[in-house]
Amino acid sequence: MARSSTRKAPSIDIDGLLGKFESFLQRKSLKLTTQRRKILEKILEMDKTHFTADDLVDQFRNERPRVSKATVYRALSVLVEAEILEEHQFGDSYKVYELSEGRPHHDHLICTNCGKILEFFNEEMEKLQDKVAKGNGFHPTHHSQKIYGICAACWGKGVRA
Ligand SMILES: [Zn+2]
Ligand SMILES: [Zn+2]
Repeated sequence: MARSSTRKAPSIDIDGLLGKFESFLQRKSLKLTTQRRKILEKILEMDKTHFTADDLVDQFRNERPRVSKATVYRALSVLVEAEILEEHQFGDSYKVYELSEGRPHHDHLICTNCGKILEFFNEEMEKLQDKVAKGNGFHPTHHSQKIYGICAACWGKGVRA
């Protein structure tokens, strides 16, 4: 089958990801259906670092045969389970997905006014978090640091809360 997109950054290995997804599905006695494959390909084509389930559903608006919202939502949770996507809960009912494969660890700044998401990595903060964990006799496996507030653009427009 011909790949419909070539504009994705070369660092993302589509075939590798599809292979990883397929072997995960096999372990669960599931199949890499055309729809599941299409959904993963769309995510790669979308070229968005962080996206919501609805962003992805939107991508299928003009698709025939139809890909239902439920199918997209189910595929997302399988992709999270397969550790291809990472799911973040940003705010009350605001879930955001991003590709975890091949991306270095980072944390997030979230604008509560416009929804903008900024990524950052800070070595000192990483070390401090490990120190805090160790100080509590805790062995951390992973973490997700989220800082909520007002982004520079919104702040510039006078938004304060
Ligand atoms: Zn903002
Ligand atoms: Zn991110």
